[in-house]
Amino acid sequence: MSVSAVAADRSVCAPLPVLGRDVLVPLVTGGEVDYAALDYAASAPALQRVWDDVAAYAPYYGSVHRGAGYLSQLSTDLFENSRRTIAEFLGCRTDDQVVLTRSTTDSLNLLAAVLPQNTSVFVFETEHHASLLPWEQRADLSVTYLNAPRTPEQAVATLERALADREPCSASGDPAKSGGAAQRSGPALVCVTGASNVTGELWPVRELAAAAHAHGARIVLDAAQLAPHHPVDLAELDVDWVAFSGHKLYAPFGAGVLAGRADWLQAADPYLAGGGASRTVSRRTDGGVDVEWHTTAARHEAGSPNVIGAYAIASACKALTEAGFDRLVAREQELIARVRAGLAEVPEVRVLSLFGDDAPRVGVLSFVVDGWNSSHFAAALSAEYGIGVRDGLFCAHPLVRTLLGTDPQDLGECGAPDGAPGERSLNAIRVSFGAGT
Ligand code: PLP
Repeated sequence: MSVSAVAADRSVCAPLPVLGRDVLVPLVTGGEVDYAALDYAASAPALQRVWDDVAAYAPYYGSVHRGAGYLSQLSTDLFENSRRTIAEFLGCRTDDQVVLTRSTTDSLNLLAAVLPQNTSVFVFETEHHASLLPWEQRADLSVTYLNAPRTPEQAVATLERALADREPCSASGDPAKSGGAAQRSGPALVCVTGASNVTGELWPVRELAAAAHAHGARIVLDAAQLAPHHPVDLAELDVDWVAFSGHKLYAPFGAGVLAGRADWLQAADPYLAGGGASRTVSRRTDGGVDVEWHTTAARHEAGSPNVIGAYAIASACKALTEAGFDRLVAREQELIARVRAGLAEVPEVRVLSLFGDDAPRVGVLSFVVDGWNSSHFAAALSAEYGIGVRDGLFCAHPLVRTLLGTDPQDLGECGAPDGAPGERSLNAIRVSFGAGT
């Protein structure tokens, strides 16, 4: 089935009675429709450069780290060069490692899996679920959820207070020797997002990193929404790890990145066990097997790696660097100003914000429209105006509920459409874009 046939098929959608008449969603109405895809925060359209690079490589596709065959050699070179390009893009320090993963979610779950025993994790309740939830997967980790701050300064102060309440330990992860409650004496990790996927607001990453380190904690930056819009430099921000997704960085094909300190990564068991992660495997005389695992990033990349995904990310990194973030940021700020000005003309619109209307942000804005059901409003934007936006709770339920002033009990299932028009909105509309394409 062709793409247009699939799109045409989707035009047979349920009527939207909320609009007061039956509106069929005419995504494709037999002719050309200008469609504005304003959902970059979910997945950004691939850069032409990425398509071109991937297409040029496709005939030579082969398995990575699998022998002397020409295609395997070429693919291995491409994969490892992509890792180097990504390391450069991220300003990695010499002993940092770049692990190729599936996504930000995968990267943060990987980090959760390798944390030393009894690590205390500190995370703001405002995080995307990918940053909020992986830590609960391990019973030995203690997770402290920090209340939503209302200013960047409050965020730093809240973190400072929470960290001060626990016994300090060295940033190497060694528990402090002197006293303190046992449950407080392990290593600590702070997980924070660089730019909110709901409000687009920038978080004070440098200051939070300084606070974390001052209290002997480490910090991981969720850069899923930051990396497509701003330079992310590990050394300059002084963060220990960074995680991001290719598909939000104009590079689809299913790869992501976890980059940063090697020590915890290499001290832990592999995230996945299998070929590629193991250096040697031998039978023991007692019948079992002995495994020696790699001590490089490969330790956590068992199985056949996603070479096209990694190459696509590297290609996007090069394209964005060549375009220049200064220019991209300036263009994006123009677009944000236009969107804000347009929304400001509609008195029923309320833009959601944690840090205030003037807070610096990336091209991500969420809003509600008084008297409108957000899901129906988003459907109408798509149906009637060819504007694709996201509606729902954006996998950041606690944050959106805080911003909307709604209770968890108000909502049924995840992001479910809310009640009748005119009722208080239980979810929001998000418009997101970038200057990369
Ligand atoms: N973190 C943030 C801030 C996000 O916006 C998202 C996705 O929207 C994620 C993490 C998860 O990214 P992925 O779905 O690519 O794993």
